[in-house]
Amino acid sequence: MIAICIGCGCDDLHACWDDAVEAPCTWLAVDRAEGLGVCSVCHGHLERWNAGDRQIALPINTNPA
Ligand SMILES: [Zn+2]
Ligand SMILES: [Zn+2]
Repeated sequence: MIAICIGCGCDDLHACWDDAVEAPCTWLAVDRAEGLGVCSVCHGHLERWNAGDRQIALPINTNPA
């Protein structure tokens, strides 16, 4: 199961860039069963993740344009 970040919508195959460490993001928390996680860029979302909120903040961009 590919996990999607609830903060930015990145996933295992489309990691975003973590400027803080100048490397692709990594998972701070990940739930493989649900296919969701919080990546290292979105540490601000970790608090609500820990509170049980699994809502993806940004709609996943499916617009082909
Ligand atoms: Zn993220
Ligand atoms: Zn990311």
